[in-house]
Amino acid sequence: MHIIWNDTSDTRAYDEVCWANVFNLRRPKHRRPRGVTKPRCDEDILAAVERAIQLGLRIAVRSGGHSFEAWSIQDNAIMVNLCEYKQVKVDTARRTATATSSVTSIELNEILAQDNLFFPGGHCPDVGLGGFLLQGGMGWNCGNWGWACELVQGIDVITAEGKPVYCDITQNSDLFWAARGAGPAFPGIVTRFHLRVMPCPQSIYSSCYIFPHALYATAFRWAITLVDDLDTDTELTAKAYHQDLGPCFSIIITTFKHNFQDAMQALQPAHESRPAGTLSEWFCSPESMSSLYAALASINPEGHRYSTDNGFFHDDPNIDLVSNFEEAFLTLPHESSYAFWAPMRPWSRRNIAEMALSLQGDHYFAVYTIWEDEKDDQRCQEWLRRTMKRALKTSIGSYIGDSEFSHRDARYWRDQNTERLMEIRRKWDPQSRIAGGYPSTLALPNGRASVIEEPSRLDDEHM
Ligand SMILES: Cc1cc2nc3c(=O)[nH]c(=O)nc-3n(C[C@H](O)[C@H](O)[C@H](O)COP(=O)(O)OP(=O)(O)OC[C@H]3O[C@@H](n4cnc5c(N)ncnc54)[C@H](O)[C@@H]3O)c2cc1C
Repeated sequence: MHIIWNDTSDTRAYDEVCWANVFNLRRPKHRRPRGVTKPRCDEDILAAVERAIQLGLRIAVRSGGHSFEAWSIQDNAIMVNLCEYKQVKVDTARRTATATSSVTSIELNEILAQDNLFFPGGHCPDVGLGGFLLQGGMGWNCGNWGWACELVQGIDVITAEGKPVYCDITQNSDLFWAARGAGPAFPGIVTRFHLRVMPCPQSIYSSCYIFPHALYATAFRWAITLVDDLDTDTELTAKAYHQDLGPCFSIIITTFKHNFQDAMQALQPAHESRPAGTLSEWFCSPESMSSLYAALASINPEGHRYSTDNGFFHDDPNIDLVSNFEEAFLTLPHESSYAFWAPMRPWSRRNIAEMALSLQGDHYFAVYTIWEDEKDDQRCQEWLRRTMKRALKTSIGSYIGDSEFSHRDARYWRDQNTERLMEIRRKWDPQSRIAGGYPSTLALPNGRASVIEEPSRLDDEHM
């Protein structure tokens, strides 16, 4: 196990090591880990935790590097970058797979596809399983198939005190409870996820209706009426973004089926009821997981600056989502930015498993503010804060995965789940060693610094 240390490295070279595989180009320069290590096996991770314990340092973890605020960059920490620890094992007969945390959504599905299997991972191809599953995982067709973390059967964890443990519904069940929804507040390092997987959809088709801004209200009201009639293999989203046609509002319907006839049947009613006035449209066009991932990668480009916010909403006749979201949908501050709405029904009405994830709304609304130039940082972020303050007025809480704790304190769990998460964190990480950049609602009452002493000096050889 090799650790690269801040205080003995060239500043530029250390910066590169720290920020390697962080997706967002807008980076918190005021935070800096003490050391960085890239383990390739469990023993390396254990050694890094032991070293952190010896030196009184914290541990921060990176899997896919897609958290918007780069939660893996923490002060006084050894950052464990799992990017070189990638393993997947598939058990076709049992329809299960085991994957290490830095395996991405697309990597997992490319391997599963060889056995005609599929996992509803993140829409964006390169999101890591680690961050994605720990916070719940809003994967493909989430409103119908449920949260991706509901397919986690067990996890291998290295605890904050350097002990390897297996957790599932019967063994270390409190840690397993936390692993499905705690996100960056999880008090350990997950080395492997044991997953249930699904048969691979053989015929994926999509329809898309692109409207001008002038028809926003008509198009969105129509999309909302579709929710109850779409079948359970069909995912609906509305998205505002800039296209070659200019700023548009699109309704996209994707169906995951086993033959063309079923796909046609799923998409036909929406096609027949669509409002007039589209700028462009397609109906029941063939897709593949590769084409879907490519489309998502193109609207989430690398080398850009990102800032996000989001909220869940209940269906309520007194709340008019169309006017609530209008400003956010129609005044995006940069042509690379986009906003989207996803219905979460019918899953939002189900009794989900006992787990940390506990906020379920019928509607999900999020803005991915994306821009290129640092000079636009303030303008784009001020737009996001101002606009989302209004858009989220009636929200019941937020999804931790698309959140930034520096914006505001949101509600991420039900109150009793927040309490239980605090207890589990106290039990499994009494020193608050795992530094996840968790929201202030979860900070220990006396603050972390009072628990772990700052190291007076690092050993000379730093190994
Ligand atoms: C372009 C883009 C598209 C996205 N699309 C989706 C989407 O479709 N659905 C969705 O739900 N989310 C989506 N997200 C949000 C994304 O899932 C979260 O940002 C998630 O945290 C990223 O996980 P990661 O492992 O890549 O990130 P990282 O930054 O590596 O991890 C985030 C944090 O999770 C914790 N963590 C990660 N791995 C471990 C581990 N092994 N053990 C303990 N703690 C760990 C750490 O606190 C870490 O700092 C998207 C984000 C981006 C940037």
